[in-house]
Amino acid sequence: MAVLKICTYPDPILREQAEPVEVIDDDIQKLIDDMAETMYCAPGIGLAANQVGRPLRLIVIDLQKEDCDNGLIALINPELVNASGEASIEEGCLSVPEFFASVKRAEEVVVSGLNREGKKIEISAGGLLAIVLQHEMDHLDGKLFIDRINPVIRDIFKRKWKKKHKEARE
Ligand code: ZN
Repeated sequence: MAVLKICTYPDPILREQAEPVEVIDDDIQKLIDDMAETMYCAPGIGLAANQVGRPLRLIVIDLQKEDCDNGLIALINPELVNASGEASIEEGCLSVPEFFASVKRAEEVVVSGLNREGKKIEISAGGLLAIVLQHEMDHLDGKLFIDRINPVIRDIFKRKWKKKHKEARE
């Protein structure tokens, strides 16, 4: 297993519409393993394939909580089946390091997709898992959590980000 480089904002790959996975071959199995390793190493609780430079509809999630028996979830070609309620928590993203903001999302979701064996699965989720599923699926459509935050906070973020990266270059 290998730790992959995580693409960070404003890398254009993060804005790409990811392509469906056609065949779950050895390359995809390796990508899942490497993405899991990258996520654990970061550490993070979710990662989408385009964040590691592969614009494919594939996400991995592990809430890494002892009281949670989900373990590693690898979901291929995920689709939102149902969404209800409203919830908002402070989110962060491995592609937007050191920035956190509250995002309004559905409270409960039902998501379908394929697992790594190619079997169709359906996940009904609430709480943190529902939020992470929506966050990671957004990535596959080229969306970042900063697109969904209060515009005033987004402007502050963009200004801070530019300043930080200008300083880093100088
Ligand atoms: Zn993210």
